[in-house]
Amino acid sequence: MKVTIFGTGYVGLVTGACLAEMGNHVVCVDIDEAKVEGLKKGVIPIYEPGLEPIVKRNHAAGQLDFTTDPASAIAHGELIFIAVGTPPDEDGSADLKYVLAVARTIGQHLDRYAVVVNKSTVPVGTADKVRDAITEVLKGRDAGIEFDVVSNPEFLKEGDAVEDCLRPDRIVVGSSSERAVGRLRKLYAPFNRNHDRMVVMDERSAELTKYAANAMLATKISFMNEIANIAERVGADVELVRQGIGSDPRIGYHFIYPGAGYGGSCFPKDVQALERIARAHDYDARLLAMVEAVNHTQKTRLFAQIQRHFNGNIAGKTIALWGLAFKPNTDDMREAPSRRLIEALWDAGAKVRAYDPEAREETQRIYGERADLVLCEKPYEALDGADVLALVTEWKAFRSPDFGRIKAALKEPAIFDGRNLYDPQVVEDAGLAYYGIGRGRSL
Ligand code: NAD
Repeated sequence: MKVTIFGTGYVGLVTGACLAEMGNHVVCVDIDEAKVEGLKKGVIPIYEPGLEPIVKRNHAAGQLDFTTDPASAIAHGELIFIAVGTPPDEDGSADLKYVLAVARTIGQHLDRYAVVVNKSTVPVGTADKVRDAITEVLKGRDAGIEFDVVSNPEFLKEGDAVEDCLRPDRIVVGSSSERAVGRLRKLYAPFNRNHDRMVVMDERSAELTKYAANAMLATKISFMNEIANIAERVGADVELVRQGIGSDPRIGYHFIYPGAGYGGSCFPKDVQALERIARAHDYDARLLAMVEAVNHTQKTRLFAQIQRHFNGNIAGKTIALWGLAFKPNTDDMREAPSRRLIEALWDAGAKVRAYDPEAREETQRIYGERADLVLCEKPYEALDGADVLALVTEWKAFRSPDFGRIKAALKEPAIFDGRNLYDPQVVEDAGLAYYGIGRGRSL
């Protein structure tokens, strides 16, 4: 099928590449000229496992094109996806300016029936707003062109985005138009071969499904962080508690890991946005407010532990960080817990030496050159001249380190394990002090 995608970020580019891989002809359009020029030359602007070969292969085969010209892109697509950002505005609500700008652009150039598919995460009622925005521009043009607007939220996970896109666990389609649903069924048929993964519903339910999914996942994390903070105070080990509760199939082992708080471009903004949506409809979503508040505090845990370790005297210390990205397998630094830690350490007068397999460039872009930040090419290089080590992101490369080497390199051998990646006994046996999250001995 002929597909157009507005936005070549994590969602748009991955979706475009995977749809091209299935034999569709995809045109991706972005307003960022440098990004589009780069993509045409095979420069992938984000790190996402498996993405580069799919983009390059399909671009070379003429299945995947990139442009900044919305008119030709809209002329191309029988399905026109909106996959642009919906960042929080000042009060935490989702800012729809990019989505509605695309809607107006579609209205300017549409010349025959097309299905407009919204993939961005948007407040309930946005499908109506997109429809109204397109209709208004079409009226101005005196063009009686039919179109449908469908809500098709995206559930891919950064770090696993290509895999999730090629093998989705569900495809939520919100639409009351049989014609539009028929087109999407055809598009998604190759992803549905094993069993029907398409869940068709109305637009509003589809829009809420996305927020509900992210809010549920964020709640699980904040819940476990709450339990970890209790465990710490009562002398219990949250890792044992985690296994104890995970064995109940109603709870399950997935996504109940305590840590240094959730980050990324989705959970923080989506929990906030859902809370604001509820408030706008006269409902006080207290649980969501607490999920957010617990996370906010959790992001200060590592710093608080480091500060206590040094009896409040952090000035002049050098802290080694392993991991910068908000989670493994991505270079995304949006709302990453590492940023709160780094900034708190700087405020306290400490220096940071950090290693991350993929997010160094992005970190440099955010903070620029500064004397109190050294970004290292190798994990153990970050330990040179450092006092202690804080593990912030659980990349596979950090799972089985040489604790003897860490001990020898650090001035005050201690590990602050923000992801409970290590066995405290093993670390202590190697002669290092161990601080985890909720492990009884970490207060
Ligand atoms: P992103 O910031 O990585 O990319 C957005 C892209 O849209 C940018 O390249 C930007 O230049 C482009 N853009 C902005 N205005 C445009 C316009 N008028 N025309 C063409 N391009 C335009 O965003 P993302 O992370 O891909 O997220 C996109 C949406 O998907 C958001 O609503 C997000 O909440 C949602 N989402 C994200 C993820 C994720 O893991 N990142 C997962 C599911 C859903």
